[in-house]
Order: sequence, then C-alpha cells, then structure tokens
Amino acid sequence: MDRSLDSIEGSRQTMLIGGEWVEPKSGRYLPSYDPTNGQPWYEAADADAADVDAAVAAAQKAFTSPDWRRMTQTQRGKLIRRLAELVARNGDMLARIETRDNGKLLREMQVQLQGAPDTYHYFAGMADKLHGDTIPVNKLDMLNFTLREPIGVVGMITPWNSPLMLLTGTLAACLAIGNTVVVKPSEHTSASTLALGELFEEAGFPPGVFNVVTGYGNTAGEALVRHPGLAKIAFTGSTQTGRRIAAHAASNLVPCQMELGGKSPHVVFSDVDVDRAVNGVVAGIFAAAGQTCIAGSRCFVEASVYDQFMDRLIQRANEIRIGHPMDEETQLGPVALHAQLEKVESYVGMGVAEGATIVAGGHRPQREDLIQGWYFEPTIFAGAKNNMRFMQDEIFGPVVGVIPFSDEKELIALANDTRYGLAAGIWTKDIDRAMRFAREVDAGTVWINTYRSAAYMSPSGGFKESGYGKRGGFEVMREFSRVKNVVVDYSGANQDPFVIRLR
Ligand code: NAD
Repeated sequence: MDRSLDSIEGSRQTMLIGGEWVEPKSGRYLPSYDPTNGQPWYEAADADAADVDAAVAAAQKAFTSPDWRRMTQTQRGKLIRRLAELVARNGDMLARIETRDNGKLLREMQVQLQGAPDTYHYFAGMADKLHGDTIPVNKLDMLNFTLREPIGVVGMITPWNSPLMLLTGTLAACLAIGNTVVVKPSEHTSASTLALGELFEEAGFPPGVFNVVTGYGNTAGEALVRHPGLAKIAFTGSTQTGRRIAAHAASNLVPCQMELGGKSPHVVFSDVDVDRAVNGVVAGIFAAAGQTCIAGSRCFVEASVYDQFMDRLIQRANEIRIGHPMDEETQLGPVALHAQLEKVESYVGMGVAEGATIVAGGHRPQREDLIQGWYFEPTIFAGAKNNMRFMQDEIFGPVVGVIPFSDEKELIALANDTRYGLAAGIWTKDIDRAMRFAREVDAGTVWINTYRSAAYMSPSGGFKESGYGKRGGFEVMREFSRVKNVVVDYSGANQDPFVIRLR
C-alpha cells in the first residue's frame, strides 16, 4: 500500500469507482479533522448524486461481468484470502489512519485491525459452503430444490467510530456470496476505507466489485440509499438516520440491515468480586471514550454493594489517563467530533438539571496539552433515575448513570425500560440468575461476567430501535443472499393445464 499518514496529510483524497481513482464530478472536497487538535488534516471528495450514479453503475457492471459472475466460489475464496493477507500486512498503517481520523486509542484500533484478516479468512471459507436444499415434495417424479444466489449491488454506509471493523463482517460476507459493493464511509473518517480500496486493487479483484464514494450523509449518503439500483442496504449509524434511510429504501422496496444505536444496561450483583465488576463497567463505558454502540451507559448495582462499588468506580474513573490516542500510556482519548463533544456536554448539563449528581468528571479537562482537542472527562452520575433524559437517549460519550436496585424483577423492568435493545451485561456468580436475565432482557447480545467482547463468528445486531438484521456468523450470509426455488418435472406426463399442480 502506498499510503502513509504523511502521504494523506494535507492531501485531497479521490474516490474508487469502477477500478479508477476519480475526482468528484463537482470538484468539491470536504475537510477531515484531527480530534486531538481540532485541525483539518486532509480533504475527502464531497460526492453527490452524479458520483453515486457512477459508482452504482460500476458495481452493477461488475456484478454481471463474467470476471466476477462466472468466477467460481473457490476462486472468490482465494481472492478474499489474498485481501486478508494484504490487510494483515497493512493493519498497523490502517489502524494509525483510523486513530488520526477518529481519535480512538491506537492500541484499540490495532486490535480491531488485527481481527480483520481473520474475519476475511472466515468468510473466504464460507464462499463454497453456501448452498441450497433439496426438498421432498408429494410427487415422486419431481425434483424440488433451492439455490442460494448473490443479490446484486449492496450499498453500505458506515459511521466514524470503528470504520473498518464495522465494514468488514458484512463486506467479507458480500464478497464471499458474489455481491458487489458501494461503500460510503462517514464524512469524518473516509481515509481508512479509501486505503482499503487500494488493497482490493492489489489483491486483484475485478474493477467495480468494491467502490468507495465519500461525502456527507445528506448528499452522497442520501443519493446512495435512494438509488433504485441497489439490491440491499447495510447501514450502521444512529437510529435517527436509520429511520430516515429505511423510509427511502421502502419506497424502492429495497431491504435493509440496520445496526443502530444503544443504551445498554450493565448490571452488577453483590455476589461478584467488586474490582472485576468495576473493571467490566469501565470497559463498557469509558473504553473508546464511550463512543461504542454497545456502551453500557445505564449501570444497575445491587443496593447492598452500591456504596462499595461506587467508591471503586469513582476511584477508577479519576485514575484514567487522558491523553493523545497514539500514546501507549493513554487510556482515554478525545471524542471524534466537535459536535459530539458539545452533545456530551449538553447531556451532562441535562443530567444535572434533572437532579442527578456528578460524582466524577463532568468537564472538558483543562490541561494545556488537551485544551485544543475534543476531550471530555470520564463522567459518573449518582442519583440517576431511569426515566431521566440522559438515561434514555444515547449520548455516545464517556458518561454513565448508576442506579441501585434490590429486586430482580424490578431490575429486569428497569433494564428493558428503553427504546433500544442492542446489548446487555450482567455480573453475578449465580448462573440461574444470569440465565434468567439472559432470557428476559431485550438485547441482541448478552454478556455474562464479561463486557464488550466481540467475535466475527457471532451474529450481532439489535432489537427494538437498535435495528434489525445481523452482522457476523453464518446469519449474515443468509441476509445478503437470496433463495430461489427450482422445480423439475421428470415424469414426462401431460397434466391438466387448468389446474394448479399442488406439490
Ligand atoms: P450517523 O447516523 O450520523 O451517520 C452514520 C452514517 O450515515 C455516516 O456515513 C453518515 O454520513 C451517513 N448518513 C447521515 N445521514 C444520512 C442520510 N440522510 N442518508 C444516508 N446516509 C446518511 O451516525 P454516526 O454519528 O456516524 O455514528 C454514531 C452512531 O452509530 C451511534 O448512534 C451508534 O450507536 C451507531 N453505531 C451502531 C453500531 C451497531 O453495530 N449497532 C455500531 C457503531 C455505531
């Protein structure tokens, strides 16, 4: 890969459409900012409908071209494996690009990128394992079977918090199935997806199989999701945007996979080692400065251990080392966007106005080396009530409200009293209780005595306003392929043409 942080710094990044690196037709570019100092560090193409049309046309052409369509599953698997090797070789650089773009810790992005090659290998292995079924029918001289087929062009829209990790599972599955893809990354973090495009070329994918258009959501993004040439939309982002996209998609009858926001309950019972549970709660809300969809932002603690738990949690939060995300010692970097910083601040103000009490953090740190960046202290609220607005809305920042509980039934009701249903965590040694919680809680992923552990072989995806459809595991192969039923009559007999042939 030719890209490095130096080569991106101050550059104008073109887009990958039909195997060519192209300028936006309008000639416009948009700035991408470094969250550690608030300064622009490169420009990405500000695409509009004309660029999106070209990208979808290129993906459609690639979908029907013999180079891709007639490629065997085994060959597709081999190509995806080649891509996996290239991603492995360039993983550190991709991680650095993402850290520079979204301010998340370098070591977090490195781990995310280390997982990407395995994800590609996993789905490469599935390319020749997606098959239909033979279904017996009530006619002995009939063969009735299904085919699993690719669906066409998939439009993928990703957010800024983990651009490549959130792309990889669905993308790898789409390639294994034989679909083609147009990706629109977040306008705040275009660089790593563009760099990935270079690796597709190097791996030898036919032109147009993987296309990247960059730009704002309400122009490039909207043009993509309104495009009638798409077979399916894979969207990861906020619930608000997801709702809008689903409405556009509905008018074209285009199905969607929706990976949306969350407000996940994180539960601690008194029978666990408090330090271990505190560590889990810290991982759930302060890792990535709380900018994860699965953030455990509503914490419920059994009343008998509440005081002890809070003392330890506050101590841990106050000890968190805030600093530059490239620095190995740093535990909490900036939030990715200035608007996000203002949003976090405004929700903290709301929490205070609603009557909750800040017991840790609550401000932008005033240290000289941080003042230009978009940093916010790890923040804990005591005295929170579940119906307070900051406990119901997704903040997407390092802010947690803690509520004591004393009864398991009351706890389940509180945990489920949310519009969202993405994830949930519970810390207890009582396996019966843990299993009851797992059964009762409305969440697509439930963690027992762990939190924020992810695996590409697991189906992840939320319920309620957290979306629908799954990313990861075999589920995603079903989501992005279609089933065709084929019926063969080998009886040689003539049938009454005026009667349906019930099988
Ligand atoms: P966002 O909804 O603002 O933007 C996401 C993407 O959608 C961006 O690429 C943006 O340009 C695009 N977009 C915006 N408006 C659009 C429109 N009208 N039409 C088409 N595209 C449009 O979200 P964000 O702020 O980038 O990301 C944070 C959100 O993502 C949080 O809500 C978080 O919970 C969610 N998220 C969910 C998951 C998951 O797996 N469930 C994972 C990560 C993030």
